[in-house]
Amino acid sequence: MSHGKVKRRAIYARDGNTCVYCQSPDNLTLDHVLSIFRGGKNAATNLITCCAPCNHERGHVRIERYLVRLGRRGLDTEAIKERIRYAVLCDIQPIIRAIELVRAKHE
Ligand SMILES: [Zn+2]
Repeated sequence: MSHGKVKRRAIYARDGNTCVYCQSPDNLTLDHVLSIFRGGKNAATNLITCCAPCNHERGHVRIERYLVRLGRRGLDTEAIKERIRYAVLCDIQPIIRAIELVRAKHE
């Protein structure tokens, strides 16, 4: 498994393998907190787990504005903000090491 794939799996695991916005466990992708379009990086601290429909819907919309939109739809935006805060502060290196250890055992 490439480093990119391990990193992706570690980010999904960090976020509980569900979309940070709607909590769907299906069709997971990575979403940039600050879009690449606006100068965001591909670092784990700028990436959150996001289902394909939410990712598509958000597009280039700023995360603050997207949260307002989700709030209008009745989603608990305080809980979503809390998940995002946790995601961007969490060190994924231990998760990456754990994934690599498990993989090494099975090779
Ligand atoms: Zn979603």
